[in-house]
Amino acid sequence: MSEQVNKLVDNFGRHIDYIRLSVTDRCDFRCVYCMTEDMTFLPRSEILSLEELYLVAKAFTELGVKKIRLTGGEPMVRTDVMSLIEKLGALPGLEELLLTTNGAQLDKYAPALKSAGVNRINISIDSLDAERFKRISRVGKLEKVLAGIEAARAAEFDRIRLNSVIMRGYNEDEVIPLTEYALDRNIDIAFIEEMPLGEASDHDREDTTCSNEWVRNVIEEKYELLNSTAKTAGPSRYVQVVNKPSCIGFISPVTHNFCEDCNRVRVTVEGRLLLCLGNEHSIDLRDILRDEAKSHDDLKQAIVASMDIKPERHYFYDKDHEQPVRLMNMTGG
Ligand code: SAM
Ligand code: SF4
Repeated sequence: MSEQVNKLVDNFGRHIDYIRLSVTDRCDFRCVYCMTEDMTFLPRSEILSLEELYLVAKAFTELGVKKIRLTGGEPMVRTDVMSLIEKLGALPGLEELLLTTNGAQLDKYAPALKSAGVNRINISIDSLDAERFKRISRVGKLEKVLAGIEAARAAEFDRIRLNSVIMRGYNEDEVIPLTEYALDRNIDIAFIEEMPLGEASDHDREDTTCSNEWVRNVIEEKYELLNSTAKTAGPSRYVQVVNKPSCIGFISPVTHNFCEDCNRVRVTVEGRLLLCLGNEHSIDLRDILRDEAKSHDDLKQAIVASMDIKPERHYFYDKDHEQPVRLMNMTGG
């Protein structure tokens, strides 16, 4: 492989230095916006082994990727995931190792995650009411997630952010309670607009999706917000709450396209390198990893070449463009 290529730049001049690596499509929850109730998951032979996931992460860091977010499905349900996380934490060149989790197992794993080198952690929570939490997650227990959040605080990660998907008819009256919960603990919270990834089986997404503009207006009835200068290499737009250390993020893929600053790609647990959340452009890394005739350099070469097909943007709800059929747990959130 040519020595000069150690950066990933696409045809729109965007420098890719962030990957979201899905370590499983499985989960101990079945959130209504993410999965159907009777999900079938991939057979073991189709998912990347922990060693293959490591080789993918290594190839990306050798190509200039500085930040890896582990996601899924629920990363913490993958057997022996800690052994992978420990190896990733020691990868040369990696500056940030992040995790997105439903929090249900953090009471057990938070200290080990911190020691393995996880810097920041996002914990999803859509309701503070146990009954309602169960309705949204279908099977999750609120008390486990609350215990997980406390364990993460005790482990002193550099940053903890809650993620909440606000949906009309489910939890739109919880914008203030969730915000207060985060503010009281000096942690951040991001509100994510529900995205049309695959079909939701319990509702029509066009009826439930709440714009972040609406969410922000609700918060502004109670708190004074300042546009924050905090810049993160992600799609969130942050605001600061006056006189509070916490930031509030708004991830608005439906009402605002953040594609021009896109610096990331996703790798699904099947080894599909997805160039865009809202499009199907991808290449198959698993084929390369499992072909004995192919080397680590071939893997890197394929990743570099994939930059040519990274789409300029996504077109959620645009009837003139095909919509993704893959659910979020298959995409890697
Ligand atoms: N299981 C982990 C969790 O829930 O945090 C990680 C994977 S999950 C797919 C990552 C994030 O995607 C979560 O914050 C979840 O709320 C969000 N998510 C899932 N489906 C979504 C959808 N259709 N629209 C918007 N966000 C979604
Ligand atoms: Fe599981 Fe996360 Fe999807 Fe909920 S959002 S079903 S916790 S993967």
